Amino acid sequence: MAASSAPPPPPRRLLALTMALAAAVVSAASAARVPASVTPISRTLYHSSDSLLSDIKALVARHPDKLSMDTITASNKGYSTDLFIVTFNHAKESTSNSSKIHVLLSFGQHGRELITSEVALNLLYILTEKRKIAGVDLSSFEKILENLVIKVVPMENLNGRKRVEEGELCDRRNGRGVDLNRNWSVDWGKKEKDYDPYEENPGTAPFSEPEAQIMRELSKSFKPHMWVNVHSGMEALFMPYDHKNTTPNGASAHLMRTVLENLNHRHFQDSCLVGSGGGAVGYLAHGTTTDYMYDIVKVPMPFTFEIYGDEKASTSDCFKMFNPVDKTTFDRVINKWCMAFLILFEEGLRNLREAQLVSQGAVDNWVPMGGDIVEISAARKSSPDKRKLEGLDLGMQELRTYFRLFMLSTVLLMFMFCSRISKNRNRETGNIFDS
Ligand SMILES: [Zn+2]
Repeated sequence: MAASSAPPPPPRRLLALTMALAAAVVSAASAARVPASVTPISRTLYHSSDSLLSDIKALVARHPDKLSMDTITASNKGYSTDLFIVTFNHAKESTSNSSKIHVLLSFGQHGRELITSEVALNLLYILTEKRKIAGVDLSSFEKILENLVIKVVPMENLNGRKRVEEGELCDRRNGRGVDLNRNWSVDWGKKEKDYDPYEENPGTAPFSEPEAQIMRELSKSFKPHMWVNVHSGMEALFMPYDHKNTTPNGASAHLMRTVLENLNHRHFQDSCLVGSGGGAVGYLAHGTTTDYMYDIVKVPMPFTFEIYGDEKASTSDCFKMFNPVDKTTFDRVINKWCMAFLILFEEGLRNLREAQLVSQGAVDNWVPMGGDIVEISAARKSSPDKRKLEGLDLGMQELRTYFRLFMLSTVLLMFMFCSRISKNRNRETGNIFDS
């Protein structure tokens, strides 16, 4: 039609322009709902959840000998989620799978802590194709990695993260407002005086949330020896408990602390906060994943790492509070924590193995670890360490035989000596009588 091809009269054109402008402003505000004073997500530094996922899928496709990926979907009352699990298992025939240490790492349990998932991606690069961290050669860690099966959950709270990407920068909860680190059953639902429902909503019941259900099943089937729940907001290396102001007692607790203190000393020059989550962080947390991993799944080394926090940032400037916003800090945090994980693997592997060799009692305390510990113990029978022990046993037996022979000959000599003396005495006595 001629009328439609003709330009609109000036007043209509102005109205259309104004409306388009208004629509653009409204859509930008609703898409990003970020006040001007608040730091937005830096798209040059951070992946979107979709691009992070596609980078991970590409990496897994490039390294089928080392990586595999599972996607698990779960739903509850109309709410559903996908959870991606990347498994690193260096296929080497020299190391049997049954003797490997199982490591389970979860990143991004809180939606707003984007930096944690960037560490997850970089750690996967390091496990497969990146040979250096900040110029430091990593070949010395290769032998350690051959002894590990590592499961990485790069974005535990995918729905919550998507809400953050849409502009809810302060939200840490899942896609329907539940804090996934309060939805577990140990001391679930207890509320402190400073309880904030926006932050800490524990859900309608323990494991009401599909994300927590999947993670629970994963922990029960995989039976990790080491668990790390990776968060941001401060810098710390935490062990249980979160729901009380103490650390557990006994050999396994001593082992956890040793590993964290060694990591802190070797890598952080003792600058990290180490201790129980509940004791060191300044508030108690109920229904957390790490407390469940310790109390119920009986993971010997369950930890929570807090990898970054900007204490000077305003509490309303959440992205800045929980994530580095400049390239230098971003790179430094990623490099520092990727290296921390490698050192943790080394310390964990050594301490777990030493504990089994040095103290059988400590292993017995981990009975609910069940199958894995039994398998490892059985595998040890043919390991060089066991052979060394067997060699030592043989040496002791020989020593015992020599000792017995020595004692026998000593007794014989004493007997001969005594009988000679008594003969001499008889002779002497005889002489007297004879003279
Ligand atoms: Zn967190």
